[in-house]
Amino acid sequence: MKKWVYFFGAGKSEGDGEWRDLLGGKGAGLAEMTKIGLPVPGGFTISTEACDYFYKHGKKYPPELAKEVKAHVARLEKITKKKLGDPKNPLLVSVRSGSARSMPGMMETILNLGLNDNSVQGLAATTGNERFAYDAYRRFVQMYCTVVMGMSKEDLEHRLRAMKQRRGVKADTDVPADGWKELVGEYKAYFKEHAGKDFPDDPMEQLWGAIGAVFGSWMAEKAVTYRRVEKITGLLGTAVNVVQMVFGNTGDNSGTGVCFTRDPSTGEHIFYGDYLTNAQGEDVVAGIRTPVHLTEFAKIMPKAYAQLEKVRGTLEKHYKDMQDMEFTVEDGTLYMLQTRTGKRTPAAAFKMAMDMANEKLITKEDAVLRIKPEDIERLFYPVIDAKFDKKALQAKILTTGIDAVPGAAVGKIVFSAAEAEEWAKRGEKVILVRRETSPEDVGGMAVAQGILTATGGKTSHAAVVARGWGKCCIVGAETLSIDYNAKSMKDGKSGKVAKEGDWLTLDGSEGTVYSDQLPLVTPELPKAYQTIMKWCDEIRRLKVRTNADTPQDARKAIEFGAQGIGLCRTEHMFFKDFEFPEKSQDRQRAIQEMILADDKEKRVKALDKLLPFQRRDFVGIFKAMDGLPVTIRLIDPPLHEFVPHDKAKQAELAKELGISAETVARRVEQLHEANPMLGHRGCRLSITYPEILEMQVRAIIEAAIECQKNRVKVLPEIMIPLTLDKKELGILTDSTRRVADALIKEAGVKLPYLVGTMIELPRAALLADEIAEVAEFFSFGTNDLTQTTMGLSRDDAGRFLPDYVDEKKAAVFHGDPFQTLDTKGVGLLMRWGIEKGRSTRPKLKVGICGEHGGDAESVKFCHQIGMDYVSASPFRVPISRLAAAQAVVEEKKAAKKGKKK
Ligand code: PEP
Ligand code: MG
Repeated sequence: MKKWVYFFGAGKSEGDGEWRDLLGGKGAGLAEMTKIGLPVPGGFTISTEACDYFYKHGKKYPPELAKEVKAHVARLEKITKKKLGDPKNPLLVSVRSGSARSMPGMMETILNLGLNDNSVQGLAATTGNERFAYDAYRRFVQMYCTVVMGMSKEDLEHRLRAMKQRRGVKADTDVPADGWKELVGEYKAYFKEHAGKDFPDDPMEQLWGAIGAVFGSWMAEKAVTYRRVEKITGLLGTAVNVVQMVFGNTGDNSGTGVCFTRDPSTGEHIFYGDYLTNAQGEDVVAGIRTPVHLTEFAKIMPKAYAQLEKVRGTLEKHYKDMQDMEFTVEDGTLYMLQTRTGKRTPAAAFKMAMDMANEKLITKEDAVLRIKPEDIERLFYPVIDAKFDKKALQAKILTTGIDAVPGAAVGKIVFSAAEAEEWAKRGEKVILVRRETSPEDVGGMAVAQGILTATGGKTSHAAVVARGWGKCCIVGAETLSIDYNAKSMKDGKSGKVAKEGDWLTLDGSEGTVYSDQLPLVTPELPKAYQTIMKWCDEIRRLKVRTNADTPQDARKAIEFGAQGIGLCRTEHMFFKDFEFPEKSQDRQRAIQEMILADDKEKRVKALDKLLPFQRRDFVGIFKAMDGLPVTIRLIDPPLHEFVPHDKAKQAELAKELGISAETVARRVEQLHEANPMLGHRGCRLSITYPEILEMQVRAIIEAAIECQKNRVKVLPEIMIPLTLDKKELGILTDSTRRVADALIKEAGVKLPYLVGTMIELPRAALLADEIAEVAEFFSFGTNDLTQTTMGLSRDDAGRFLPDYVDEKKAAVFHGDPFQTLDTKGVGLLMRWGIEKGRSTRPKLKVGICGEHGGDAESVKFCHQIGMDYVSASPFRVPISRLAAAQAVVEEKKAAKKGKKK
């Protein structure tokens, strides 16, 4: 029979730390910590499979679950020697969510469950603290009302504030026992009024309410949004952890904290964390009170600290990764409540992976696996330009806070998450400023450039979420008072005021907030980045090239580690002179003249004007890629893209070319196609107008000869786009070779070059064996191949594809197939194409130059199907290098696992 519930406690656990998918991160951590003898309160975990069942069966629990939960409660009562609801010695539990991937604060928690009018007296008696017992009781009723019943937080908070006012007390800690008692009464009356029934006294009824709320929170809007933003897919659901309560709020000898085995911001090997005396765990995460650093905790409670420091060592050695732990001290005794792999900044991810490999805690290959593609992307986040005048900078300080996530951000102030989303939709850059953030704010946080909160520490909600995204974040700017109604804020220290819409610059590495829009620049890359990328290069088999159309891009790509150019789109050069931008119009006019020409002679004349521009561009690119292969693609887009469509511009062009505006309009009209993406484009253009191909090949080969004479090593690869047939390709490769060979012969040099094609159409992939008889290399153009295989327009599908990815809608695909390869469909054609191609030309060189060449998951697929290289835009080259190395490591690990089985 299927098991739905897993027990842990008294040094034994039924679950295992490896079972994250089944028990969630929290459940797996609790099981593992119990197993290795750490002080963990007892409890049990209802598996994610139960949640999956719940959603697949119209929100009904598995029939056996009730019996299993009952048995596990009894077991917990046995080991704790306490009973749920007992009027003398009651067992209290927390009920927490926890899925396989950490989703900080997105799902629900209920604490102090098991309290009612009888058991609260038992709690008061056993702790000798009536005030504490009733405080725990009102917290429970409050959480139950809001979390389980979805009642208004504000209404309850309002009653709390009113009670404090009536009694003339400020801090919660000053409220006496009967104050809390009175509040419990008010809350219960509120419950009855809104629920139409009495507050449940029966602890088992309470427990089922809480279990339902945790399962329900899996599909709550904020959780779904978080998964979408974080691209978390394929999970079964959340587990439910029911754990014996321990209390950090029984007095000054108690407290609660969150700590990391290494610094999550810098990666440094130091013990890092926050502690709050006399508080429950939620108080730290909510960021309402600002906690003290662990060094202070060591002074307040040296014994508990020493024990915690030992746990730190044990857990890091055990998990071989940085751990993020939650602990509670109850009357001087330490309890571990959670351990999980900690979120970290990108720089910290590199430093920790490098250090841990050097410390031999993990291997170099493991270190490479530890880096996420987003870590690389986010490393390049900007910082304030160091050239900005220091004095002027000083004068712009508005406030300071805690440096939660490094990097800098510039944007306009907004004070709510909803406004952040609205403004961002309009294309505005915003900084989200809040007193504190809560999981509801996650959509606004995602679109903001940076986040600033007035309260909270480095483990507050804002800090944890922003860190996961590598998004600049400053928390705990305590001198800042924010007026949400007036949409303004004032800093108590600097006296400065800022309003909604004002510019703000955050320096998340320093924790400094500047009024104004300051210049940002890309930072220097940390040493650990260079080291790990070197390891990647040693491991990977796939080569990584770049898609670059200009010498500038080519040079940038070399800095990022590119090993050649996989796609140079020559038509981009028709629009812009990258060396002399002011001269761009000359080349635009030349191409337009060519398009408008009504006979071959005039076309050739116009092409002759274009030739020197193209040649100069190619010289620049060959020089930048000295010694590396350069794939240049011949003209590809439909010609209408090069001519103006509005009357005024057509008239201007006509005047310059000395022809009538009607002639221009007529020609543009002639070029109109109902389906341009399937129209006269790609190599079809060179079949109709061979003179275009001839000019481009001439420019490439003349540039190559010139460079070679100047001792630049050139390896040109001429690429023909959108081929659909061997005969078509044969005609074009023959023309290419005729022009190239004549020029080489005339120059009296030796210049090896290749002629190959792009595979962008299903027909080309299907007939790859024939095509490879002519082509010397293949490059998969997966932008078009995805478009033509799926029958989805790459330019329009963005409008409806989100529905195809949305978990709550169709969820047909995990991700956008134009971003991440559809390995099932498009991938099948690719496999076939490579296999067939190599059947007639065994040494056929194969690469990819669609956008997928810079997408980590797709790169791994390219490795698996035996490509020689991938080509990505310059900024994505490091991501492809990483993914190519990870593909090797993952392959090895899978083979090892296969052998073991
Ligand atoms: C492709 O189709 O994948 C490709 C690289 O060409 P383009 O994007 O220029 O059509
Ligand atoms: Mg294409």
